[in-house]
Amino acid sequence: MDLSTKYKINWCPGCPNFAILEAFKQATTDLVTTGKLKIENLVVGSGIGCHGKISDYLNINGFYGLHGRIIPTMTGVKLANPALKVVAFSGDGDSLAEGMEHFIHGAKRNSDISLFLHNNQVFALTIGQVTPTSSKGYKGRTTPEGSVEEPIIPLALSLLSGATFIARTYALKIPETKEIMKQAMEHKGFALVEIIQPCITFFDSRDYFKDRLEWLPKTYDKKDYQGALKELTNPGDKTKLGIFYQASKPTFEAQL
Ligand code: SF4
Repeated sequence: MDLSTKYKINWCPGCPNFAILEAFKQATTDLVTTGKLKIENLVVGSGIGCHGKISDYLNINGFYGLHGRIIPTMTGVKLANPALKVVAFSGDGDSLAEGMEHFIHGAKRNSDISLFLHNNQVFALTIGQVTPTSSKGYKGRTTPEGSVEEPIIPLALSLLSGATFIARTYALKIPETKEIMKQAMEHKGFALVEIIQPCITFFDSRDYFKDRLEWLPKTYDKKDYQGALKELTNPGDKTKLGIFYQASKPTFEAQL
């Protein structure tokens, strides 16, 4: 199915956001063609940042939120019409700087929404300022001599806050990202998928991640909360990808 719009895509040529867009289109197409989702019941929203333009490029019911406010906005959409499948796109600057409180409360409530977090470790739309996930030493417009702060771990924070689906993938791995997106969208409850998305213009981390990415082993038990916490907070020198945790708990909307 064609989920494209007539708008010209103005991400930088080669930006991994193109790969995220493609993975999401494929995930949505799979869910619709297998009868698991009606396209008219899908709503996507996005915040402010390079990621936010994705709403313009999808021929799906959409909503452009204020900076950092896409989680409460989409929680409201779900509350107003629980029959809808709700997906929020956000970025590390959007949901972890401006929207940090909403990021925590969305997980705490176990709102039935999927959050696809484009983590490029930089404020890219405003041309290169430090965000809460920027690496220590990152040299940008607000940290010309290098950031002295340690980055936060969004998945660990969300797990501790109450999220019931926690996953990480890499934007340029389109087939795997598609499968994780599908599982997140089928999950009942707050589903966070961190998508590592190198910003090739302001923080090109492709070389850094080249030999560092490693999928969780097949024997990994995603029901083990303590195991997930340990894996996320003691990753060693690899960046692990996959579904770290999944649990079944009552959602915010069902309890209300
Ligand atoms: Fe992508 Fe970075 Fe360009 Fe934004 S500035 S479109 S994140 S490459």
